[in-house]
Amino acid sequence: MATAASGGRSLPLDMAPFAPSIPLMPPEEPLMSEFEKPPLDVLLSAPRGFCAGVDRAIQIVELALKKFGAPVYVRHEIVHNRYVVDSLRDKGAVFVEELDEIPDDGQPVVFSAHGVPKSVPEAARTRQMFFLDATCPLVSKVHKEAQIHFKRDREIVLIGHAGHPEVIGTMGQLPPGTVSLIETVADAAVFQPRDPTALAYLTQTTLSVDDTAAIVRVLMERFPAITAPHKEDICYATTNRQDAVKRIAASVDAMIVVGAPNSSNSQRLREVAEREGCPVSVLIQRASDIDWPALGAIRRVGVTAGASAPEVLVEEVIDAFAARYAVKVEVVQTAEETIAFNLPRELRPAAA
Ligand code: SF4
Repeated sequence: MATAASGGRSLPLDMAPFAPSIPLMPPEEPLMSEFEKPPLDVLLSAPRGFCAGVDRAIQIVELALKKFGAPVYVRHEIVHNRYVVDSLRDKGAVFVEELDEIPDDGQPVVFSAHGVPKSVPEAARTRQMFFLDATCPLVSKVHKEAQIHFKRDREIVLIGHAGHPEVIGTMGQLPPGTVSLIETVADAAVFQPRDPTALAYLTQTTLSVDDTAAIVRVLMERFPAITAPHKEDICYATTNRQDAVKRIAASVDAMIVVGAPNSSNSQRLREVAEREGCPVSVLIQRASDIDWPALGAIRRVGVTAGASAPEVLVEEVIDAFAARYAVKVEVVQTAEETIAFNLPRELRPAAA
């Protein structure tokens, strides 16, 4: 536990906010004196928020802006967080969905942390575009596994969510029709491989650890020869954030997950809290999204953040609680994270 008293609330010592370029709106504060505020324990889940892959992706855009000037094009949201995207846009990033939206002006284009199908860098090379790949190295690891299985003539099953950019990117490493997507236990129960003795599975990096284990169990029971990843594809950040939520979810009246609705790992955190027995588990983007009446009469609340949510938004949420309650913040830490990924070679001098 690491806390420090500050004004009407206790602040965790490990808060390192993402430098905002958009001023934060103060929470709408009810007129209530410190003496009138009901007490509230805030259990702050740790690890939470930015992972090494998200941190690297944001740094790539910021360093590209520093080195090459604006505009820097970014294909797809660099990470799934509107606040981060808006902040980078203010600094000169231009977000596009496809390369054909980018003029031939010689400015760099950055591929998002989720990874891209092979066709995207190929198209960029054809147009002689200068691109920087912010694909998380742990997603690139899954791409490499897919290519190895393909070379070894194994049929590949990808466990993941249809339409998620990471899934599109991983499936796009190989020719169409090569990878079969499985989303649920029911899908796994009816999947018919061409040859059950030449089969391998991979997973999206941001899935529910428990749901994925259930799907893998069904696949292993049905196809005992299936090849598993050497090392878990669900990444350390996803696993650690879910474990931390499990530690506190059953002991709080409500769980607040700060993250975007299109962020897979944030959605999973909300589900994990619900499954662990937390009566109210909500995903919010900003403090202003909190539905106060829906929280009911709370005495203990858990707060966490998805891997793409900056710490400044967690602070905003705690401030909003502090405006209504006499809060005491306790950090509940279940793992230490020390992972950092190298930047692309072209940007290392700019980072020095
Ligand atoms: S959530 Fe995991 S896979 Fe995704 S960017 Fe972060 S570390 Fe990489």
